[in-house]
Amino acid sequence: MTDDQILDDSLQTTDSQSELDKIQDFQGKYPKQLWYLFLTEMWERFSFYGMRGMLTVFMVNELFFKEQDANLKYGAIQAFVYAFTFIGGLFADKILGFKKSLFWGGLLMIIGSFILAFSPQDLFFFGISFTIIGTGFFKPNISTMVGALYKEGDVRRDAGFGLFYTGINIGALLGGFLCVWVGKEYSWNIAFSLAGFVMIIGLITFYFTKHAMGPIGDSPLLHLPKQKRQVREIVVFVGSLLCIPLILMMVKKTEYTDLFMYIIGPCTLIYLFYEMSKLTLAENKKLFAALFFIFFSIVFWAFFEQSGGSLSLFALNNLDNSLLGVTIDPNVVNNTSNSVFVIALSAVVGLIWLWMARKRFEPNTMVKFGLGFLFLAAAFYIFYGTRFFADETGKTSLDIFTVAYLVITLGELCLSPIGLSIMTKLAPRHLWGVMMGMWFLASAYGQYVAGILGAGMASPKEDASNAEKLISYTDGYYQLAIYAFIAGVAVIALSPLIKKLMGGVK
Ligand code: GLN
Repeated sequence: MTDDQILDDSLQTTDSQSELDKIQDFQGKYPKQLWYLFLTEMWERFSFYGMRGMLTVFMVNELFFKEQDANLKYGAIQAFVYAFTFIGGLFADKILGFKKSLFWGGLLMIIGSFILAFSPQDLFFFGISFTIIGTGFFKPNISTMVGALYKEGDVRRDAGFGLFYTGINIGALLGGFLCVWVGKEYSWNIAFSLAGFVMIIGLITFYFTKHAMGPIGDSPLLHLPKQKRQVREIVVFVGSLLCIPLILMMVKKTEYTDLFMYIIGPCTLIYLFYEMSKLTLAENKKLFAALFFIFFSIVFWAFFEQSGGSLSLFALNNLDNSLLGVTIDPNVVNNTSNSVFVIALSAVVGLIWLWMARKRFEPNTMVKFGLGFLFLAAAFYIFYGTRFFADETGKTSLDIFTVAYLVITLGELCLSPIGLSIMTKLAPRHLWGVMMGMWFLASAYGQYVAGILGAGMASPKEDASNAEKLISYTDGYYQLAIYAFIAGVAVIALSPLIKKLMGGVK
């Protein structure tokens, strides 16, 4: 490197540092950039949950899959979507930077949606494969960018993630509702293109606001000559496209899902241990603490994700259709109440943490996680309790079911936004993407285990009556309540130990 280049580099670094300082020294509760990321992520989640909501219905109604097959494929797609976040995070850290990863991921999601819109019956799995890899590049990296808006130790970070989480759920609610409705009532082609159009809006939003992010999310390879950098970027772009036939094959044959899930987890751990071998003891301790959170989040999502599986069948067979006296389809309540409660409560919970921090009695992350499990336990106890309000045909109260959703959402708010936040607190900067990817990989395992748990809860009798199904599912929920309670107590009991590993991070 010439002296001029060295001088250039150091001037650039000072410039970016002062730009970053300006962003991170914001006044008030939230930085303005958070709103931009909020909007971008809102549109992405609209597209994602819109697509997700259509999958099973489309496979059963249009592709004529048996319900069981459609469920298995749905589970596999969900697991793959979240599993690829590790890869997206890794390449963002090493080569693309978060901004380019978002564009690339968003673009692939758009292409996937329009492939589906063009010919959903013939190109279904091909289109889905694009959205899987696209989400992998998009989802972890936008979350990491939120963390980058805050200085180390800024107590406003958790509240920021809380607000960001509201955006996620506004998108999820709108997309989950609108896409299936348009698909069923009008046309699947329009419904899939709707998912693509909103993703375009998301990317345009990001395009016009990305300058406000300053150096956040820029390429990690800025020190390399432009040409060398571009070659590496192109390799990532082409490489990810080459993965598509592989994903296509794996999604089509669900037997491969098991194999994939057995391989990806250990591989990511081996990779992480390799990265850890280059770090100091203090940094490694923090990463062990992060792994602890990741492990427990698998358990949390495995229970929580009953919502897409066993709870939706429970809603179908065992719930009446009256919510506070208003007639409503129980499956609509099952699909939307979580998002509605997150939207209503997320900012409130965030502000409670902020207020507690100011008064200096905010519970630490471990305790919040523990609380998350205790709420989860209470919610499943309420799901179990619905059996005591059932009539002789096995139909029980939708009102009580909805209360359980309120409680499970409180649990989610103690764990999910906090988990995103803690990944950015515990990982060294050059591993942010990887750790965020691992956080979402835990969701992949959660989804995967959720399906197995749900299948285990279903009544073994083919022609079981609704009353028998009620007993079979609620027995399962009782078990989950107990395990969630034990997990909550274990997390809180282990908190002093993990606190030591976290070395000052709260
Ligand atoms: N509902 C949240 C989202 O869509 C959390 C997903 C997850 O981590 N499983 O971002």
